[in-house]
Amino acid sequence: MNCSRCHAADTKVIESRDAAGGESIRRRRMCNECQHRFTTYERVERPQLIVIKNDDVRELFSREKLLSGLYRACEKTPVTSLQLEKLVSDVEQELYDCGDAEVSTAKIGKLVMQELAELNEVAYVRFASVYRRFKDIASFEQELSDIRKRKTEPVKV
Ligand SMILES: [Zn+2]
Repeated sequence: MNCSRCHAADTKVIESRDAAGGESIRRRRMCNECQHRFTTYERVERPQLIVIKNDDVRELFSREKLLSGLYRACEKTPVTSLQLEKLVSDVEQELYDCGDAEVSTAKIGKLVMQELAELNEVAYVRFASVYRRFKDIASFEQELSDIRKRKTEPVKV
């Protein structure tokens, strides 16, 4: 890392500490040529995720958008915003781990629903009804009985 003042290549790290709750590292550096001190941040590089919607329209993945949908589904349930933040972070991580630059809303919905089913049944059903757009009451009831069955069976991974 070159000095930000004299551009000499000879700089050293004099202090490192976690920043943004461990999401990045802040380093104080000093130039061995001119003694100038400056700060750098190091963070994990995350490629931008593209979401393919049902109508084939593409848009950037938005954590906020997903969260607001979840807040709506969890209204008047005991699910806390902390739980939802964690759920979205887990889903986000899983999407990044897949390594695909583009993901379908169906895939995101599936991941979210898996996690939501563990948290709260009412929230799950509300979210699922938006995501899957149940055509009739029969498919809705099918979904409900599926969750109840899943809850009594050991989780398959
Ligand atoms: Zn310098």
